[in-house]
Amino acid sequence: MKDRIQRIEKQIREAAEKAGRNPDEIRLVAVSKIKPAEMVKEAMDAGQKIFGENYIQEAVAKIEEIGSTSIEWHFIGHLQSKKSKYAAGAFALIHSVDSLKLAREIDKQAAKKGVVQPILIQVNTSGEKSKSGTTAEDAVELVREVATLEHIAVKGLMTMPAFFDDPEGARPYFRELRLIRDRIAALGFPGVEMKELSMGMSGDFEVAIEEGATLVRVGTAIFGARDYSAR
Ligand SMILES: *Cc1c(COP(=O)(O)O)cnc(C)c1O
Repeated sequence: MKDRIQRIEKQIREAAEKAGRNPDEIRLVAVSKIKPAEMVKEAMDAGQKIFGENYIQEAVAKIEEIGSTSIEWHFIGHLQSKKSKYAAGAFALIHSVDSLKLAREIDKQAAKKGVVQPILIQVNTSGEKSKSGTTAEDAVELVREVATLEHIAVKGLMTMPAFFDDPEGARPYFRELRLIRDRIAALGFPGVEMKELSMGMSGDFEVAIEEGATLVRVGTAIFGARDYSAR
């Protein structure tokens, strides 16, 4: 585990340097969905600080068992509005806000808990029907509206393009997300920070870093293949 994490950290640094970026701007989110709490602890022992989860019940159980004093939990999966009460305040960052309805519900739940919930807006840059995310066209309007919610802080954007055998296939979508980010940042919505770009997974995080990723979400390369039948 330690070797795998160190190898990925090294690849992150090398990709950043190749792109003329400061490697410190890029954080590794270890995606632990479907993996047991024991593996999360093993990764913590290896120095890993941020964990990403996709399924709310599973995430809540792990957070309860492991706590969040020395690490950050991020929610990266599809979130139903009615599950917002479990998510608001439990995660350092929710990457997957893709509708005003969901944002309003998170805002309401965060208000009840007296917290401001940091979020990213998920954009479906590759336009596939099967993928979550607002369209590239609607992203600006969504950020404008979400920015008015008092208990949400918009920190940037997230995307998850289709799977490509060749990571270069994902590059145009990563680039697209960066361009949307730049466009929104230029509009200067009050309270909106467009600092984070969450993009890149096990197979393509280096390309994502070359295109500006600040958060890479890596599961398989750290924890091994997932067995979905065990869920
Ligand atoms: C599962 C998942 C990942 C990690 O994918 P790997 O290919 O295992 O690295 C990243 N992001 C999201 C949104 C995921 O659901």
